[in-house]
Amino acid sequence: MAFEKLTSAQPQVIQLLENSIRKDRLSHAYLFEGERGTKKFEMAQYLAMRLLCTSDDKPCGECHNCRRIKHRTHPNVYVIEPIKNTIRKQQVIDLQMEFSKTSVEPGPKVYIIRNIEKINLQAANSLLKFLEEPTSHIHAILTTENLNRLLPTIISRSQIVSFTSVPDTIIKEELVEEGYPEEASSIVSRLTNSTTDAFDIASGDFFIDVVDLVKEIYNIVNTQEESVIIYFQENSSIIYQDSETNNLFLSIMVLYQKDILNYYMGDMNHIVFKNEMNTIGSIAKVKTKNRLIDELEHMLSLQSRMNSYINKNLAYDNMLLSLEKRVSNG
Ligand SMILES: [Zn+2]
Repeated sequence: MAFEKLTSAQPQVIQLLENSIRKDRLSHAYLFEGERGTKKFEMAQYLAMRLLCTSDDKPCGECHNCRRIKHRTHPNVYVIEPIKNTIRKQQVIDLQMEFSKTSVEPGPKVYIIRNIEKINLQAANSLLKFLEEPTSHIHAILTTENLNRLLPTIISRSQIVSFTSVPDTIIKEELVEEGYPEEASSIVSRLTNSTTDAFDIASGDFFIDVVDLVKEIYNIVNTQEESVIIYFQENSSIIYQDSETNNLFLSIMVLYQKDILNYYMGDMNHIVFKNEMNTIGSIAKVKTKNRLIDELEHMLSLQSRMNSYINKNLAYDNMLLSLEKRVSNG
């Protein structure tokens, strides 16, 4: 099946659209609403393909029409995106012009407006006129990450379809398919529910370095061959360059700590750092459950206050010191 990912990411949306098509009650204007990376645009293209596909099993994703939609070259499917953060009147006029041209092929026409919350007032007024004269073969699909910023007049003229966040199993699968290593994909899938953000994190310049730093910290905590604080002071400069990398570091520390707890409780399926099983196992064996939870809570509270810390260095030293402390009296 060509749209397996999309179907498993947004099963309710697919079902809603399929039902409407089957009953011939497709709305002439949909408003796809949901967080970044929830596949709203892919769904919009899906719907366009569903309407224009020439195969028996619609949409096939492979016929001439489907491929042209995917590559945005089908004259019946028009996409508007914000230019410099704004959707302007001229873009709406261009859309109307395009759809009145003879180059448009017979059959349904679909226009997709991404980030409709970025439309300016003049453009919105033109669009509303267009929305108010629905012709059965023209379908509008508007997408937004922020329903609250939309003009009520736009909301009231469309059918709202809500997109839920994407399950981490699907995010992981997509990353692996794109060639990212299994472990890295697993880590990223626990950090975000947005497919778009997942690819940003995985391809980030410092992602692998931060993961390696966390692994090495726990490796030293386990072997106790050197001081983890000194190691950290000498090797942690990358995390201080911006708050994003800093937050990434703490989030990955939290994931690793949770892995130790999962190991402790015998829940091997949820372990993210699969390549670190030996280290995770031997740390779990020398610490009590309460201590592991205390350490985790320390990290979580640090995470919530991190951006207000003036001296991040000192905060980290305290965190690492607690991790490193030997269990007294065996
Ligand atoms: Zn097709």
